[in-house]
Formats: sequence, C-alpha cells, structure tokens
Amino acid sequence: MINIVLFGPPGSGKGTQAQNLIQKFNLKQISTGDLFRFNMKNNTELGQLAKTYIDKGELVPDEVTTEMLREEVKKGGDNNGFIFDGYPRTANQTAALEQIVNEVLKDEISVCLSLVVEDEVLVERLLKRGETSGRTDDSNEEIIRNRIKEYYAKTAEVAELYKQHGKYVEINGVGDVNEISEKLYAAVEKIK
Ligand code: AMP
Repeated sequence: MINIVLFGPPGSGKGTQAQNLIQKFNLKQISTGDLFRFNMKNNTELGQLAKTYIDKGELVPDEVTTEMLREEVKKGGDNNGFIFDGYPRTANQTAALEQIVNEVLKDEISVCLSLVVEDEVLVERLLKRGETSGRTDDSNEEIIRNRIKEYYAKTAEVAELYKQHGKYVEINGVGDVNEISEKLYAAVEKIK
C-alpha cells in the first residue's frame, strides 16, 4: 500500500495534483475540505458547524475533523492506498492519522509530499479560483490571508514531524502542472 500525505498551504495545488496521483497509482483521495463542502451543501449538522469556521478562514476543530476522516478511511476502497489531501493540518491530527492508518489499514504513512509556493502567488491563485469555484472562502482576500495565517500558526509544524521521521519530500509547486506531477511521481516511485 502507498499512503501519501499531500501537504502544502491553501492554493498550493494539492487538489489538482491529487487528481493526477490517484490515476497514476490507483489511489483513493480523501480531502477533508471536500468532505466539509459536501456536508455544507447538504446542510448537515456537521456542515453547519464546519461553515462557522470555514467562512472565517479558520480550521475546524480537530475532534470533529478527525472523526469525519476516520469514518472515511473505514469505508476503504478497491485501491492501492490513499492520498490524504488537506489532512493533517495540526500536530494532533498528524498523530491521529498515524493511529487511524495503523488501526484501520494495518499500515503506515509512506511519505509526506509537500508543495512549496510563496504566499503572494497563493493569494493570487486563490482569488482567481474564487471567480469560478463558488467557494466563499476563496472570494475575499481577508479570508484567504487568514487561511494562510492559520497555515503558518498551526499547520506548518506538521512538516517538521514528517521531517523527523524521514518521510518528508519538498516539491516546487510553481510551474507547469504536468511537470510538477512528474516530480511527484518520481518521489512516489522512490518509496515504492
Ligand atoms: P481545503 O479545501 O483543504 O482548503 O479546506 C477548506 C477549509 O476546510 C479549511 O480552510 C478549513 O477551514 C477546513 N478544513 C479542511 N481540512 C481541515 C483539517 N484537516 N483540519 C481543520 N480544518 C480543515
């Protein structure tokens, strides 16, 4: 099994690259952002709660997010492994993910692939995406900057944890989408 954490700040291209990686290696993507958006669209209790954080550009509390993720991993799938997109985003979530992968899949995280993009490029990309995505959190520069602030305050330390375990690979996330995919494929091939 290959279990990839696809890591990077909002707007670094995780969703786009996850699409290519799932096809290349027959993986199942789990995006906590997508799961929240699905719940918001269906106006579930979880969606209503998540919205109060997402609309401000804040992280949804760990317990809620981790429970949702655990249920999704349990669903399993006919695939060679998982791509975790947008999770973990805190040190707590990093430990929780290792435990869930251990318990449910009897496996471990293979690698953390980190897309590196500078802040001003992120803001520009997200504002552009907001023109068509319909995402409330992409439509306003203040919310976007808060998401980036949350990333540095709470999420960046996730990278340190994977570094400590020798499972961290950085990839330049600026440039041609397919060229970035090729670099990601090469990093995955190395650990296969
Ligand atoms: P994303 O689509 O990954 O950019 O996520 C959109 C929003 O959903 C984030 O700004 C957070 O408010 C929330 N979210 C997604 N994943 C997580 C997570 N792992 N922990 C906490 N909040 C999350």
